Amino acid sequence: MKVDRVAILDWSTAGKPRLGKDSIWLGIVDSAGVTAENLPTRTEAEARLETLIAETLAGGQRLLLGVDFNLGHPAGFARHLTGEARAQAVWAWLAARVVDGPDNAHNLLHVAAEANAAFPGQGPFWGNARKADIPGLPRTRPDLPEGLAAARKAETSATGPGARPKSVWQLSGAGAVGAQGLMGMAMVHRLRARFAGQLAVWPFEPTDAAVTVAEVYPSMLSAECKALCAANPAMAMDEAQVRLLAQALYTQSVRGDLTALMDPSQDADLIAEEGWILGAGHQMALRRAVPATQEPPRLRDDCFAMPQGVDWVPVDDALDRLRAALKPITMQETCPTTQAAGRVLAAECLARRSNPPRPNSAVDGYGFAHAATGEGPQRLPLVEGRAAAGQPFEGTVPQGAAIRILTGAILPDGVDTVVLEEDTANDGAAVVFDGPVKPRANTRKAGEDVVQGALALPAGHRLRAPDLALLSALGVPEVQVFRPLRVGVLSTGDEIIAAPDLPALPHQIWDANRPMLLTLAQNWGYQAVDLGHARDDPEAIAARLNDGAARADVILTSGGASAGDEDHVSALLRARGALSSWRIALKPGRPLALALWGGTPVFGLPGNPVAALVCALIFARPAFSLMAGAGWLVPQGFTVPAAFTKFKKPGRREYLRARLNTDGAAEVFASEGSGRIGGLSWADGLVELPDEAMDVAPGTPVKYLPYSSLGVV
Ligand code: AMP
Ligand code: MG
Repeated sequence: MKVDRVAILDWSTAGKPRLGKDSIWLGIVDSAGVTAENLPTRTEAEARLETLIAETLAGGQRLLLGVDFNLGHPAGFARHLTGEARAQAVWAWLAARVVDGPDNAHNLLHVAAEANAAFPGQGPFWGNARKADIPGLPRTRPDLPEGLAAARKAETSATGPGARPKSVWQLSGAGAVGAQGLMGMAMVHRLRARFAGQLAVWPFEPTDAAVTVAEVYPSMLSAECKALCAANPAMAMDEAQVRLLAQALYTQSVRGDLTALMDPSQDADLIAEEGWILGAGHQMALRRAVPATQEPPRLRDDCFAMPQGVDWVPVDDALDRLRAALKPITMQETCPTTQAAGRVLAAECLARRSNPPRPNSAVDGYGFAHAATGEGPQRLPLVEGRAAAGQPFEGTVPQGAAIRILTGAILPDGVDTVVLEEDTANDGAAVVFDGPVKPRANTRKAGEDVVQGALALPAGHRLRAPDLALLSALGVPEVQVFRPLRVGVLSTGDEIIAAPDLPALPHQIWDANRPMLLTLAQNWGYQAVDLGHARDDPEAIAARLNDGAARADVILTSGGASAGDEDHVSALLRARGALSSWRIALKPGRPLALALWGGTPVFGLPGNPVAALVCALIFARPAFSLMAGAGWLVPQGFTVPAAFTKFKKPGRREYLRARLNTDGAAEVFASEGSGRIGGLSWADGLVELPDEAMDVAPGTPVKYLPYSSLGVV
């Protein structure tokens, strides 16, 4: 199926005219682009839909109209209310009764009470939130009439993030949806009558008409909608939903893939009564069709500015400022779970299935019904066959009998308890063991690990090996992730020779920082972008920064970042990049130059490899994590006894190259000289000495940050 236009209607049951949040929104997408309209009443909305449909038909075009209300009820309802097991009969029943004025005043709750009266007991609908009682419409949830479920099959299948739908029987209260469906169905009935033969409602009717109406569920795109609202703070969530859903469905149509979202794979009788939600069961395909937010977040030009008169900034203050200044990237993509290690989740992951899916045995042994056992020796005849992992026993184990069962096997019908093989004797015909055995012993409950629909992992989580195990176990084939952060690395300095395979004169040195920083970026899970080496020449540096701004989300430079004559990076950034030079009370380190180059943040690190590494680990690592969507990071250190002596002056924090000796005490590198690259390699971590003065002697507790906790691997 292909359409020329997609419209998404976000409905409302407001009793008065209303605009803005929780009112009626209509998103429309065609080849001319996307628009969103806000309509104050249902009468106006219906008139607008009539015009839209009439225009579409006049132009010989096709329209898909998605409505965010239910078009069916749980199986059994239609037949009971109308005598016909078809949703259309319910629409007609409603259209004959619902009165909805041009001022939005309506009689819906009375209509629901009338529907309830057709059922034994209280009937399914509930939620009278009005002051006056309405006979036949309970205020709180009643027991459902026999045979009616709380939810339709399609709702349980629509397990996108945030998709935990309320029951269609609930008519009022936060998030209630039932009334929207009842009023919406009456409207759909009228549209169908008005455009008879040209408008069909999927999946109840074939989709060859010019206009197809279908139920949609905007929460399937909740993560994408949140991102759109975050990028456009003035936009209401309802507006974001109708825009994005209309865009995604239009894209899907252009790709010729709309039918892929229209495959309920359900029994025809069920569909005839309950209907289906467009895209349910195919959430990932829908999400893939959402246009990427291509705009990176804009940082304010003065985001790195330090207040006047600030002299030396303590490390913690500098970290707080950095954290406040930066924003996460917004661009997202879907990725197969098996390839998602190291990626950052852009949306929460929900369990598609419980783990374990069915109760099973935790051991090799014999399974039986606990009720038939007691104290003392137990002798249970064995049924023929066995239950093993992947080989379920299809029959029922009679009360008082037992079955051979192996670890991981689904408990057969009639089995709720397992006795461990080692605790039994067995003569081939019966199994013997000592009672009592605890009920449900040696079994695992269905969902005891994770229940279907439960939050498996939150947005912002960086996926590690165990997370891939979890997601795979829960049947999550793809994840929505942020696109990897791209980190550009540039070295500067006239004395620097780009790589050790090139000759260097005695006054020249090989570039040590770039391979180190590129590798760090990779270790942290980012895309390292090599921006090469620039001589101490403003134009050469500017050209490399331009390249970096085009190819990276953040740039690390090293060298030339102080305020001296030869500090060309800071001079250039001061002139053209809104430089703020942070004098951080830190050793090793000198000013950290922070700037924006064409909107891209630049971290100007000192040239000394020791200072460059420490500044990268302490400042760039948490900042990049925030930018990558995984949130700010605080390195995890632990306290160990010192194996060295040092009198530390007050007023600045110090990081010493360190490693643990065989006693678990921290020894430090013999020289603190910040040119001593050998010490970086010798070390396995850093000792962090506080801002205050400190006398360290062997045995004094000090804080040790292993390289691994700083992402150096
Ligand atoms: P700067 O920050 O430019 O004043 O440089 C401080 C020291 O670090 C100087 O001794 C530089 O030669 C050295 N240096 C700067 N960049 C690098 C680099 N990429 N690799 C090794 N040493 C460097
Ligand atoms: Mg230099």
